[in-house]
Amino acid sequence: MTIHSTLAAAIGNTPLIRLRAASEATGCEILGKAEFMNPGQSVKDRAALYIINAAIASGALKPGGTIVEGTAGNTGIGLALVGASMGFKTVIVIPETQSQEKKDMLRLAGAELVQVPAAPYKNPNNYIRYAKRLAEQLAQTEPNGAIFANQFDNTANRQAHIETTGPEIWAQTDGKVDGFICAAGSGGTVAGMAQALQPKGVKVGLADPMGAALYSFYTEGELKSEGGSISEGIGQGRITANLEGFTPDFVCRVTDEEALPIVFNLLRDEGLVMGGSTGVNIGGAIKMAKEMGPGHTIVTILCDYGNRYQSKLYNPEFLKSKGLPVPEWLDRAPQDLP
Ligand code: PMP
Repeated sequence: MTIHSTLAAAIGNTPLIRLRAASEATGCEILGKAEFMNPGQSVKDRAALYIINAAIASGALKPGGTIVEGTAGNTGIGLALVGASMGFKTVIVIPETQSQEKKDMLRLAGAELVQVPAAPYKNPNNYIRYAKRLAEQLAQTEPNGAIFANQFDNTANRQAHIETTGPEIWAQTDGKVDGFICAAGSGGTVAGMAQALQPKGVKVGLADPMGAALYSFYTEGELKSEGGSISEGIGQGRITANLEGFTPDFVCRVTDEEALPIVFNLLRDEGLVMGGSTGVNIGGAIKMAKEMGPGHTIVTILCDYGNRYQSKLYNPEFLKSKGLPVPEWLDRAPQDLP
């Protein structure tokens, strides 16, 4: 029997799950790292824990201190839960456009929530810039001080994946993993995996949603975006500190029209209820598998649990408003008993 003495110890060591449809379609073994099984139901618990531990170690985060972050939601949920378990307060700045379920969860987790209109990074009121300014103010006024978690440019985020996710995948596949691919939000996961796995001969790929600028950067050397995506938590427009030094072996774009059927079929046929970024990741894994050829083992990330997106990704009205296809079973009204 294993007993964890703190919530922090329950983060990570997630299972790998074989993705049947993706594997059968490619003749590869496509495996999903079940990050939705972390206590905060997402891959970002790992980064949250490493960011908090690094701030404690440097002396920046003092007992009873406040953690401030700009986040699409999942990092905030991780910070709030780990923070609560260690006696820290959290203040989260979130773009209004993120799902209501993530905002509700942040409140439940005890975070103070500041909603700001969605604005590009260069705008001074962008949620990340706003959070940074708020952290600087609270550092002066809070009795125990405040820190800016800074997931995008704080490489403690990437370090979490170098030290935990990467070695876990290597051990779980007995070193038989040939490829890894995922999308980038902060880039901590993909760049951390590259540092952990490329030296072992594993090819590391990047799957970019529409609206992100990394595909054009890694193929043409220029940050350019095209179109958009309903996926949340991914789609980067700049080279964050976490992405610095990262050289992908494979890059592709995955559209919502490609990603959404993957997510819906995963739910119906494999019992996996995932968020939209997972569809982009698996779409990327399928493209990478086709490029590498049959017989390879490719790992991707099952980023977060789908209950977080009931009002968007799993809401027929929302999908229709975006001109996206709605699966017939999702569109069917609940049936009364005859
Ligand atoms: N998927 C979801 C749902 C996320 O919230 C995030 C992080 N914002 C990612 C993927 C991307 O992870 P990373 O920040 O490590 O690039």
